[in-house]
Amino acid sequence: MDNNNLVIVTDFDGTLMKEDVGDTVMKELGILEREETIEVTRKFIGKEIGTMKWIEVAYSFLEGRQAEVDELLESVSPRQGAPRFLDFCKERQIPVIILSDGMAYYIEKLTQKFGIEADKIISNPIRYLSDGEYSLGFQNPNPSCRWCGCCKADAVRRLKEEGSKVVYIGDGVSDLYGSSFADWIFARSTLANFLTESGEQFYRFETFDDIMDVFAGDFDAFSAGTAARMRAKENTFCRFA
Ligand SMILES: [Mg+2]
Repeated sequence: MDNNNLVIVTDFDGTLMKEDVGDTVMKELGILEREETIEVTRKFIGKEIGTMKWIEVAYSFLEGRQAEVDELLESVSPRQGAPRFLDFCKERQIPVIILSDGMAYYIEKLTQKFGIEADKIISNPIRYLSDGEYSLGFQNPNPSCRWCGCCKADAVRRLKEEGSKVVYIGDGVSDLYGSSFADWIFARSTLANFLTESGEQFYRFETFDDIMDVFAGDFDAFSAGTAARMRAKENTFCRFA
């Protein structure tokens, strides 16, 4: 392998995709305005609950609404530069893992539609099944912490234990946990704000062209593990057995 154990971990909503698909679905189908959702959103913002509880309530309202979800998926698209970045990774044999606290159904559908090839997709097993049933589940394999639907921290931590050098790309709150075990972070939006507040090192991006400039531009240093802005802060939130 000529990639020296580099692995790319990228979030999906608002990162690989221009839009936050989950948010778009929740908003457009009126789920955010439901009393039950307003209540869990209030608790989520107040840090009383994590995404697992939020998803359990909000995503239950997507049952029986596949056609409406499918229609909304017509209007979303990958972030600028994403195909070129993924091609670069493929050429260099760098595995790409999509790590999402969103819904497997739309991630699988959109990656297929746009020809996005990932070595692995880790997300919540929430799907419309072929028999018309709806399945609502969580990816979280971490018995010590039931905060997030998808335990991004656990996924990245495992990669580190296997000896990988992890480049993390993300935009949201759930990425704060996952990225805290990575070697380098590319961040935008909420994640970038959080990292700035906490004094963490990261590369800011808006498009994948920005990421290419840094990553491809300094590829030898990333391969060697010597690229600048190594993540520095310790994760004091996530719990593991
Ligand atoms: Mg996101």
